[in-house]
Amino acid sequence: MNQNEYANHCIVCNVTSCQNHHRDKNYCSLECIRVGTREEQPAYTPCTDCQSFVPSAT
Ligand code: SF4
Repeated sequence: MNQNEYANHCIVCNVTSCQNHHRDKNYCSLECIRVGTREEQPAYTPCTDCQSFVPSAT
């Protein structure tokens, strides 16, 4: 099965520039993702990132 045919309804995502994005639906196609931060003390939503992001080939 093409990886991106699977929409994980537990991971809503609108990052369409990621190779793991479902494409047609706003879901991730992975079974699980890793979320992390580059901050020492994350305090706001933008402080966290999906570390499973893979940029789309251009
Ligand atoms: S890996 Fe992260 S950024 Fe990429 S589609 Fe999944 S949730 Fe979105």
